[in-house]
Amino acid sequence: DADQDIVLECDQVNRWFGGLQALKGISLSVRKGEIFGLVGPNGSGKTTLVNAITGFYPPQQGQIRFLGEPINGLKPHCIAQKGIARTFQNVALFRGLSVLDNILLGRHIFMRPSIMASLFYWWWAQKEEVAHRVKVEEIIDLLQLESVRDEPVDVIPLGMQKRVELARALCAEPRFLVLDEPMAGMNQEEKEYMVRFILDAREAMGTTMLLIEHHMDVVTAICNRAVVLNNGEKIAEGPTREAINDPAVVTAYIGK
Ligand code: ADP
Repeated sequence: DADQDIVLECDQVNRWFGGLQALKGISLSVRKGEIFGLVGPNGSGKTTLVNAITGFYPPQQGQIRFLGEPINGLKPHCIAQKGIARTFQNVALFRGLSVLDNILLGRHIFMRPSIMASLFYWWWAQKEEVAHRVKVEEIIDLLQLESVRDEPVDVIPLGMQKRVELARALCAEPRFLVLDEPMAGMNQEEKEYMVRFILDAREAMGTTMLLIEHHMDVVTAICNRAVVLNNGEKIAEGPTREAINDPAVVTAYIGK
């Protein structure tokens, strides 16, 4: 059944900021295990759509479903608890803390208070701690962050900081991960590394992802399918190459 394969679905999503309609009836569906591209020139509505999905700016009209369940109107932390993680366009790490501690913080959604009697609390906490460490070590390995694990996160290069953000998001073992321009500000070499790491993460963890990106080479390299926005409207969708080569897309980009 094709419907069971859909992780995230937007159905006719509208969002206004005052008189400006930033999202105009956007519909899309992301399938399990794919990396789905959300593409478009600056100001086309990509971040607004992600903010709608993650609950920061709920849509005023339309439906958003995660694993078949409506999530619009839920608070961002409730949506995160359901298994949707995101990274931000500008690095949002805890300065002064080590790479390792920043990644460990990604596990915080699992650190709930124990419902057991205090007698069992210590035993439980030890087990949880081990589970966290194992997952964190796996991810440090996967994203090749071993050499900087104890460095304060502010002293490592930007390309690596972005990788730490990816590691932190993966640490929560999300069922759906939104990556907001993970290559922003990177040089060519760093970009190529990041492409590799994102593909490796999907391979190793099977995470379904939505990738916001306006560099077409990156989208082509990573995404299975894509939607292109322009002025809040969906102007193309489909398998990545077809979507981004659509004449409407070429025109929209030349117009900018
Ligand atoms: P993109 O991510 O594709 O660059 P955005 O989603 O950031 O585009 O912006 C889409 C449009 O919505 C832009 O015209 C932008 O100015 C407007 N917009 C986004 N967020 C807000 C906000 N919080 N208040 C007012 N206008 C906003």
